[in-house]
Amino acid sequence: MCFSCLSARDTRNIFLITADGLRWRDLFGGMDPMLKGQKTAGMEGAAALKAKLWRATPEERRNALMPFFWTTLAPKGVVLGNVKKQSSVRVTNAYRVSYPGYSEILTGRAQDEAIRGNEAVRNPTPTILEFLRRKLGLSSSQVALFGSWEMFHLIGEHQPGSIVINAGHRDYDGPHSSARMHELSALQFEVLTPWTEERHDYITFEMALEYLRTAKPRVLHIALDETDDWAHDKRYNRVLDAIGYLDRCLQKLWQVIGDLPEYRGKTTLVITSDHGRDRWTRYAGARRSRKLRRGIPARHSAHDFGSDGHRVPRVRWRSRKSGRAGGFEEGRTLSVTQAWRRRLALPISSPTRPSAVVVGTRHAGWRVVWQRYFLKLPRG
Ligand SMILES: [Zn+2]
Repeated sequence: MCFSCLSARDTRNIFLITADGLRWRDLFGGMDPMLKGQKTAGMEGAAALKAKLWRATPEERRNALMPFFWTTLAPKGVVLGNVKKQSSVRVTNAYRVSYPGYSEILTGRAQDEAIRGNEAVRNPTPTILEFLRRKLGLSSSQVALFGSWEMFHLIGEHQPGSIVINAGHRDYDGPHSSARMHELSALQFEVLTPWTEERHDYITFEMALEYLRTAKPRVLHIALDETDDWAHDKRYNRVLDAIGYLDRCLQKLWQVIGDLPEYRGKTTLVITSDHGRDRWTRYAGARRSRKLRRGIPARHSAHDFGSDGHRVPRVRWRSRKSGRAGGFEEGRTLSVTQAWRRRLALPISSPTRPSAVVVGTRHAGWRVVWQRYFLKLPRG
């Protein structure tokens, strides 16, 4: 595919979809062979799930887990972050938990001096969402964030009220309300989660979709959380269910984008995660350190999930194309400086259909995504 002959200028709208703590192993490899039989991972009695998702090869397994993503979406864009193909996409903050990761996504850099974990502090920096609203001359209703985790009220904007945010168990009191929005807003208090700060992704996604239909925002962030919540609860079966739901959300979103003239052929999806998962913190040792420095990914086990204080395996920077017809690339390493030096072209919205930029999980080089997409959106 010729990257240079297509332009990001076709993109008029950007939708950012984040899946909290989604592991690259699950995204790229489907059901984890080490976890599939683990009683401590909630996999006892998950026979139906295994029958549905277990296959012989990682490619077959990921297709079973995320059929829409791998068969429809990925061929329209770029997928980064498959460590097994020497593609590493990493967080740059030191804490490797949620708020620092989201802040990095939304402000373009780690803010380790100010955001030291998941404490409830207001984002000290204006976010890309606020920036775009000003730069593009949009009203506050044209930039929206719907999140399952209530912390997004603090993460998503530096100046309260800059954009529309609804997150956590919170009544919807924003603009463009509708009967469906009212129904969803009430439903979140009837179908409670086991967690205090997070509501179900279903509510978040359906609210975002309704907002999309009624308010037609130019910039939308949908922040799903259950991929992380269930992992903390050591329920890998539910993590897989949540990933399957993510896939169905993407399918539904893609359908709506195609149905609405405001979005069809003018919208780019950016899909990423705030951090990965590893057992580094629990089993830190010199041998492991050496292995990680040498770029050997940590051996995974049931402890792989359940903690998001992880150490990311370091993989030597190496640009390696493995392009396929249709523009799907997996295995191209992305770093800020190298990407700019080599004028790495991220995709690509064609005039006839929207494109998808999929930033795997972990996200160094986020500024490249900004430069190519967020900052190229047209005014008006
Ligand atoms: Zn997280």
